Amino acid sequence: MSVVAIDFETANERRDSACAVGLAWIEGGRVVRRESRLIRPPQMRFSPGNIRIHGILPADVRDAPTFPEAMAPFLPDLAKGVVLAHNAGFDMGVLAASLGAYGAPVPTLTGHCTLQIARRIFPDPAGCGLSKVASRLGIRFEHHDAGEDAYACAEIALAAMRETGARDVPDLVRGLGLTPIRATNAARRDLERSTSARALRVAGATPAVAELRFSLRGSTGNRYVVVLEENTGGPYLRCSCPAGTHRRRCRHVDALIDGDITDLISNNAEDVERLRLRIGDAVVGPVRVKGAAAA
Ligand SMILES: [Zn+2]
Repeated sequence: MSVVAIDFETANERRDSACAVGLAWIEGGRVVRRESRLIRPPQMRFSPGNIRIHGILPADVRDAPTFPEAMAPFLPDLAKGVVLAHNAGFDMGVLAASLGAYGAPVPTLTGHCTLQIARRIFPDPAGCGLSKVASRLGIRFEHHDAGEDAYACAEIALAAMRETGARDVPDLVRGLGLTPIRATNAARRDLERSTSARALRVAGATPAVAELRFSLRGSTGNRYVVVLEENTGGPYLRCSCPAGTHRRRCRHVDALIDGDITDLISNNAEDVERLRLRIGDAVVGPVRVKGAAAA
């Protein structure tokens, strides 16, 4: 069974806009192979926020293979083994949406999320974003290079196995009670829904300032709403849960800032990425988002 950590970078807010992929294979308790590829997205539209993150320009991918071409050598390994990603909901969504954009079949994959794993094994008030966990574990890598991110993801899984004494990744996730994340066409339906919602906004149905609003399932099953507000002091994430209404930082805001969509029930996973682009790498206070990057 192959275990492959994967990471995608995207050209814009759309999930089918992958412009780079990185992969790292785990075998015998270590990373044994690393690959990265540039990808030409179906539309050559690069958002400044995305370029700021990964530094990939349209000229870099003009002659690169398409998504199905770039992924063809790797899909068999992904389909027959376990796929790891840091915030797997995002990467599995990119995989499904990008194959779907070319009418290519989406293989049935078993994905697991090292963000969820890190939250349980290496929790920290600073959060469990890839660079934070990696730096706490002494994993050296160049953040936002797809190949490097995939490598860091693999090393986080290996560290979690060492920490727990798990034999392999299936043993590790079983012990943590984590359920697999699937790459399905549901991700594609979400994409279409959220794209049509955005088209409405662009058409002027709602104010020009993008309203970012998320519904999340709380631990007791309650539904909470997190809204990004543009206040004079800067952007502000308001959650309707008890902690949030007392202006305390809550786990729902934490999850959105980490890009964790596990408990997202509002079908706008793409907006989570837009929120993250809006926030950038700024240090985030209890509720208020300080020094956020321009939208
Ligand atoms: Zn909350």
